Amino acid sequence: MGGFGFSEEQEMFRREVRNFAQRELAPGAKERAKEEGTPEIAHEWARRIADAGLAGLGVPPKYGGQGADWVAIGIAVEEMSKADMNLGATPVLPALVTRAMALGGCSEELQQKYLPAMAKGEFLVCLVISEPHCGSDAAELRTRAVRDGDYYTINGEKTSISGSMSSDAGFLFAKTDPAARARGVTSFLVPFDLPGVSRSRIRDMGWIGVTCASIFLDDVRLPADHRLSEEGKGFYMMMGTFDVLRVFLALAVLGGAQTSLEDAINYAKQRTAFGQPIARFEGVSFKIAEHATWLEAARLLCYRALWLADQGLPHTKEAAMSKWLAPVVAVNAIHDSLLIHGHVGYSEEYPIEQRLRDAIGFEMADGTAQIMKMIIARELMGREFRSY
Ligand SMILES: Cc1cc2nc3c(=O)[nH]c(=O)nc-3n(C[C@H](O)[C@H](O)[C@H](O)COP(=O)(O)OP(=O)(O)OC[C@H]3O[C@@H](n4cnc5c(N)ncnc54)[C@H](O)[C@@H]3O)c2cc1C
Repeated sequence: MGGFGFSEEQEMFRREVRNFAQRELAPGAKERAKEEGTPEIAHEWARRIADAGLAGLGVPPKYGGQGADWVAIGIAVEEMSKADMNLGATPVLPALVTRAMALGGCSEELQQKYLPAMAKGEFLVCLVISEPHCGSDAAELRTRAVRDGDYYTINGEKTSISGSMSSDAGFLFAKTDPAARARGVTSFLVPFDLPGVSRSRIRDMGWIGVTCASIFLDDVRLPADHRLSEEGKGFYMMMGTFDVLRVFLALAVLGGAQTSLEDAINYAKQRTAFGQPIARFEGVSFKIAEHATWLEAARLLCYRALWLADQGLPHTKEAAMSKWLAPVVAVNAIHDSLLIHGHVGYSEEYPIEQRLRDAIGFEMADGTAQIMKMIIARELMGREFRSY
């Protein structure tokens, strides 16, 4: 994104991703959205996405990735999500772990151990923050990591973790100093095959293929070199560096909404009532016009946030605005697209009802609307006026 709009190179990349996504991901997406995910299915899809050069977009070439910028990853997430909203975010975790390892000064050996496998879609990682007693107030984590020579011993319970039943490791946040709030949080890479890690599936109304679970850590002995941030710096890493995660989630839900709206447009042109296509009724066509406008506005906000991040400029406010606005306009667009389909839109014959369930999840994942507004207000008015 140079200046305003996309470069020819970015447009070409979008076309390539779109071709791949429409050819490989779109067929069967409706059925997959209802299927309980398994590690085998998740790894198979990650490998297919990796074979197209899209899983390791944010991983540097020396570790087998593409070394793409945030805007390019956003384009990939949006186009893949148009085809399958549950697979669209595949490049995001490898990119974030890469960034965390570089910032945390992880050893070359550790990066060589994990990053090439992530870029190949062979090693899946999930983001492990939320706990049963705290989601929004992430500084209140109780999971405890205690340094013991060359190891940390980790104890605690995590919940609401997307993709965790199918992942090989967690990018996990725990307290190294329980007396401190945000300043006591440290991040780690925790392989799930370590003794003491167990998982229990949670059944949700959406994100079914992604799989959600609680994770229990019972005296897990983690090699100390698997620490991804300096002690006490994990929360700030999460807050500053990972603002882009919010934008990727926003683009993912917008992708699903765009497809739903296009489905509604096609349906409205061929469905007749009162002797004419329903697309001719302003009650239908104005809804389509309004949602197309809202989706485009939210999407431009997302790309501006990613562009700012690529320039090394502050983008916390724009990322929070994207994460608040996109799920709202996406849920509204999918809802009206469903209604434009009449009863068939409500039935399981069509993919829209499940997309609506999936889209609602984006309103909460990685921070609710209220939390996003708190961040926006803090950025506008200063920390001295924040409510927490
Ligand atoms: C689909 C989905 C995927 C998820 N994936 C992950 C994941 O991969 N990893 C992970 O760690 N977590 C994940 N989560 C958890 C998610 O981050 C939390 O659900 C979210 O942060 C909210 O936390 P909570 O559910 O504990 O709600 P709470 O924090 O208990 O909040 C409950 C309600 O109170 C409101 N509220 C809280 N504080 C305030 C305030 N100060 N002002 C106004 N309102 C407030 C909230 O907005 C919310 O409506 C996922 C959640 C969902 C739904």
